[in-house]
Amino acid sequence: MSKAVDSRTDRPESKIRFSTSWSYAPAPETAKATIAPRYDLFINGKFVTPAKGKYFATTNPANEKKLSEVGEASAEDVNKAVKAARSAYDKVWSKMPGKERGKYIYRIARILQERARELSIIESMDGGKPIRESRDVDIPLAAAHFFYYAGWADKLDYAFPGRTARPLGVAGQIIPWNFPLLMAAWKIAPALATGNTLVLKPAETTPLTAMKLAEVIRDADLPPGVVNIITGAGETGAALVNHPDIDKIAFTGSTEVGKAIQKALAPTRKHYSLELGGKAANIIFEDATIDQAVEGIINGIFFNQGHVCCAGSRLLVQESVYKTVIGKLQDRMETLVVGDPLDKNTDIGAINSKIQLEKINEYLEIGQKEGANLWQTSCDIPSSGYFCRPALFLNATQSHRITQEEIFGPVVAIQTFRTPAEAIEKANNTPYGLSGGVWTDKGSKIFKITTKIQAGVIWANTYNKFDPTSPFGGYKESGMGREGGLHGLAPYVELN
Ligand code: NDP
Repeated sequence: MSKAVDSRTDRPESKIRFSTSWSYAPAPETAKATIAPRYDLFINGKFVTPAKGKYFATTNPANEKKLSEVGEASAEDVNKAVKAARSAYDKVWSKMPGKERGKYIYRIARILQERARELSIIESMDGGKPIRESRDVDIPLAAAHFFYYAGWADKLDYAFPGRTARPLGVAGQIIPWNFPLLMAAWKIAPALATGNTLVLKPAETTPLTAMKLAEVIRDADLPPGVVNIITGAGETGAALVNHPDIDKIAFTGSTEVGKAIQKALAPTRKHYSLELGGKAANIIFEDATIDQAVEGIINGIFFNQGHVCCAGSRLLVQESVYKTVIGKLQDRMETLVVGDPLDKNTDIGAINSKIQLEKINEYLEIGQKEGANLWQTSCDIPSSGYFCRPALFLNATQSHRITQEEIFGPVVAIQTFRTPAEAIEKANNTPYGLSGGVWTDKGSKIFKITTKIQAGVIWANTYNKFDPTSPFGGYKESGMGREGGLHGLAPYVELN
């Protein structure tokens, strides 16, 4: 832990010591998850062994224990999955009326709801996120996405009035580890509603809820080959991207891999949409309701351990309220409970992997070397597993790497501003353009600022609010294409 004196707050340390004078009795969720010792690849409606017979382990980041192992799909398996998807597209799915497709998607949504508790526990065990979040956000939203897009399946004529929407064919979908089931739902639901078939590859560190989703899809009696789920590393994703019989790639992940995919696809006929990284500015004006804004800062950066592409990882505070905001923020941060993801008291769970923890720790070093002041809370953290105390950097500057680069952890870089124009300039001075937040009492200021910030999503007096009806996506190096809402149908259709 590192404590720094900040001359502008005159506040060397937190006054409140929640870790010693307050404690909660543990409230663990019963970890009765039905995790099989091994999962095969889900191809053509069946679980099949990978062609090369190779498997890799998936572990619990909160205790470093192996949970299960999953198949490592080779190029041969990718080919098999794409063939199954093509056959299902040609013979069944593209010919099926939207009304019938919708019934299958509704069925998936209902089974997800029925199995919500089990899925939440597995999501928290495999990925490290607090059970409160997987239970109240990830799993309900995943089901909501299937419900929402099921409704569109027979209404595409209304989505695109005067046009005929045709499916693209076979979609290859690649997702990251931060919202495993939810990202799968964002990808699969609109693809199915518009009549495409697909092959999905989950991230290496969080494959389990995707394999559970494969069971759900099998139990929903989807025609074989409509949805194929194959596990593997980056090479499996690359094989999917480069497969000649893929019509569309939908990718969510880092900007670095997104750029490599864009290069690979540029000379081909394939359609693609990319949801990449971000470095959002959360802007606090002096006329904001400060207590509410502090909650928004907490939610903006510490939700899901900060493993959120749209996280409010840069905080811009108007100079006149800087002392008040930082003082209240530090007090509130001291109340955050870091620990067992399955404990319902936990606010911040485990960092998703050892590699990610190392990356975050490296940035904590980089920020200090650059001259920013690191402040972390004084809470206890478990002795095993991958954990990080919530952190903030005071006196960050625009040129610091901690201000420009995506850390993807519970770390916020703080800067000040005097005028709205300065706030806008600082907010836009980044290669990214995914999201942002504005806190002010004035409606006119909300419109003035939000229309000038280059970002796909901007929240006003709230943060990290998601809904299936609302489109999400980025500008600049944060990607292209939208997911969610009516806009989320467009990347999966050709309009005539
Ligand atoms: P990566 O880009 O490393 O991985 C994303 C997915 O792509 C994983 O399934 C990964 O497989 C796979 N992959 C890796 N290399 C290749 C390749 N060469 N070709 C095809 N697929 C490949 O990102 P992370 O998983 O580390 O996720 C974190 C990043 O994702 C952050 O930068 C974050 O901002 C971004 N993100 C963006 C979102 C958005 O909506 N804009 C939402 C969520 C995250 P494997 O896991 O095996 O490496």
